[in-house]
Amino acid sequence: MLTEAKEARNVCVAVAIDGFNPYGMMAAPYSCWPVFVIPLNLPPPGVLFQCKNIFLSLIIPGHPGNKMGVYMAPMWDELIKAWKEGHWTYDRATKRNFKMHVWYQYSLHDFVAYGIFCGCCVHGKFPCPICKTALQFIWLKKGGKFSSFDKHRQFLPLNHPFREDIKNFMKGVIVTDPAPEMMTPEAVHAQIEGLMVDEGGIKFVGYGEEHAWTHKSGLERLPYHDDLLHPHNCDMMHTEKNIAEGLYGTLMDTDKSKDNVKARIVMAELCDRPKQKMQPPIGRKTWRRPKTEFTLSMPQRREVLEWFQMLMFSDGYASNWRRGVNLSTLRVNGLKSHDYHVWLERILPVMVRGYVPDDVWKVLVELSNFFRQLCAKEISRAVVASMEKLAPVLLCKLEKIFPPGFFLSMQHLILHLSYEARMGGPVQWRWCYSIERVLKVIHTMTGNKGKIEASITEASCLEEMSNFTTTYYADNLPSVHNPPPHYNASENESTLSLFRGQLGSASEGTNKILTHEEWRSIMLYVLTNLSEVEQYIG
Ligand SMILES: [Zn+2]
Repeated sequence: MLTEAKEARNVCVAVAIDGFNPYGMMAAPYSCWPVFVIPLNLPPPGVLFQCKNIFLSLIIPGHPGNKMGVYMAPMWDELIKAWKEGHWTYDRATKRNFKMHVWYQYSLHDFVAYGIFCGCCVHGKFPCPICKTALQFIWLKKGGKFSSFDKHRQFLPLNHPFREDIKNFMKGVIVTDPAPEMMTPEAVHAQIEGLMVDEGGIKFVGYGEEHAWTHKSGLERLPYHDDLLHPHNCDMMHTEKNIAEGLYGTLMDTDKSKDNVKARIVMAELCDRPKQKMQPPIGRKTWRRPKTEFTLSMPQRREVLEWFQMLMFSDGYASNWRRGVNLSTLRVNGLKSHDYHVWLERILPVMVRGYVPDDVWKVLVELSNFFRQLCAKEISRAVVASMEKLAPVLLCKLEKIFPPGFFLSMQHLILHLSYEARMGGPVQWRWCYSIERVLKVIHTMTGNKGKIEASITEASCLEEMSNFTTTYYADNLPSVHNPPPHYNASENESTLSLFRGQLGSASEGTNKILTHEEWRSIMLYVLTNLSEVEQYIG
């Protein structure tokens, strides 16, 4: 693989997949799954990950489920051919043809699509597609979900004091196990090759016990599969959003809080935190949920929201939070993924300072800083290496504060994000913001609602063709590659001194009927400032 990788003209591609409802959010539940191919060799600033360089190569009508491998088969075939045989391509610099090879680098998707794309179940007791069966989550009977609570002490160094802490984690439990071994790409390949369908013909033998493979994705057919150290990305956008949403809900005690009655009952069974136990209804009608140190009180929440109303960001940095604040319900409505990104990385440390104890605040700041460093435009190997060591410690510190119900598969992914940054590089080329933008464009292409996938395909093919043909237009012809400038000075050809000067119209003019006062002001301005009328005045 190295020989082909060293040739700069060969192309490595990322494959992105996401589901969306082409009929809109309010329509009947239906999703189609476009698959995009993105060349990664392009120069990063302003070219890589632009809409016109993300190519729609496949649309799967409906939820692909376990048939993902079947739908993806043509794409894998093409990738194998492009790798083995290559494609004759013209090199403009040397004016010669050469064989261009293409290889698959990694995939981009949210957590659900991760499972569908790689053929691994991301629910149940083995939801982590990276740890696989090496890490079994615990079942919270009362919460009705699997949790990764107290599963991260084994990733700490063997002499770490947290390993012997019998009070703050699972009560009375000491962890002596070393960190579980992750499967190598060769082992994964061998396991997938050895899968046998059971007698029912639906599942593979040993599913849910020895492995969590639901179907063969086809990725293992790639001749260089065993060399891929980082074949899939845990998308930072969705991970950050889910973590921030859970944390915001818990701190502000909204209906999305993970610290609810069920969580307290589970915690009473698993942990030694008597202050947080549900209080029996003595002298009252209902049980009482004692306040925790990490939840903000009602007046504090009101103060925070009033502060949100005064928040001002730089232009284009974040959406307008002030519009969503509702002081009567103590909520912020309409927060999107990017708002949670800004909240977690910038606002959280300021928001809770002084409201929560210092030790809790420090952990939250560490979490915020962790994500800020991961999402930096440039990352250094030394910083990422130190973050890899920090990740399990940070998770353990969070486990000491929050209840078991807080730790789902998303929170567990914090453990793997820094490894992925080391393998895959800066997060801007691995997260799904660009894909979501393309999905929005595709959404506008749905002309014929009866044959929606065909309509999208036709429109995107047309756009792709027009993109490439207009690249070669002359400079004076306006096109997507050569848009007319916003401020066109050459348009302004007035002969009157007052109207002559730099800058033309910024946009198309609109008609406006002036009031008498406005008309008088304008006339006064023109008559006193226009040198050409001087000779006619008195
Ligand atoms: Zn894991």
